[in-house]
Amino acid sequence: MLELSNPKVIRDLLARHKLSPQKALGQNFITNPALCPRMAEEGGAMSGVGALEIGPGLGVLTAELAKRCDKVTAVEIDRGLLPLLSETLSDFSNVNILHADLLKLDLGEVVRDAFGSLPVIVCANLPYYITTPILMHLLESGVSFQSITVMMQKETAQRICAPLPSRGAGAITVSIAWRAQAKILFDVSRGSFLPAPDVDSAVIQLIPRVNPPYPVADESTLFAVIRHAFAQRRKTLLNCLSNGFFLPKDVVTQILETAEIPPQTRAEALDLAAFARLANAMSNMV
Ligand code: SAM
Repeated sequence: MLELSNPKVIRDLLARHKLSPQKALGQNFITNPALCPRMAEEGGAMSGVGALEIGPGLGVLTAELAKRCDKVTAVEIDRGLLPLLSETLSDFSNVNILHADLLKLDLGEVVRDAFGSLPVIVCANLPYYITTPILMHLLESGVSFQSITVMMQKETAQRICAPLPSRGAGAITVSIAWRAQAKILFDVSRGSFLPAPDVDSAVIQLIPRVNPPYPVADESTLFAVIRHAFAQRRKTLLNCLSNGFFLPKDVVTQILETAEIPPQTRAEALDLAAFARLANAMSNMV
């Protein structure tokens, strides 16, 4: 078994397959040998579990998942990596590489076909240029993932895992908190990759909620409220919602009153319960 986190092994593999890391696809390969075993362990990789990986790259995390889980399906967009992955993962008969853009996959179908009735975890070092779309695609897929353990840019991790309410929170914090409980597991320095990115990283874990935290009449209204509420962070909810929904201010004032939120409040001061009240008041009014 090749030492896939060894920089010399990585350079040799890439050279032999006439490849170089593609910046546009977020290709930064892990060179810290402790990182993938830790991600797999903390991500819940174990016997009786299936793992979905996004972007196996050279297969370094894939191998750690394959050692521990019953089955691994890894989705890789870069066709050039497929022959390399056949070589690096040749010791494992429980790995399936799917050549696809994760964002275009019907994940319900993929998970059903790949794992049947096995509980499924997601574990991945994400391509950072599409971190948020990938997380939303996973959380909106209707698949009951046991956990989602993913590496991303540190600042994005901090934003996603910011407490509610807090100044660090944004639309992505609330959107994800609505669907999952999120926490940072550990930080990772930029020196842990080849090539080294310009930013530090962090591994976070999402535990998807089985049910929404509060009842809402219409989730699409809730997500529109979240988007508009944070669209102009310095403005009050009264202004943001009036601009975003094209509603007169007296109507928005009434909606905020129904939701028991003072009109001069900013989005960062709301918790999930307040967003739910606001969405319900908005659904009743428009
Ligand atoms: N897992 C490897 C590691 O940790 O060393 C590579 C991680 S690298 C940060 C991101 C990987 O995601 C690359 O292999 C890249 O080709 C792949 N990728 C980028 N966009 C993708 C997409 N839309 N769907 C699936 N894979 C993608």
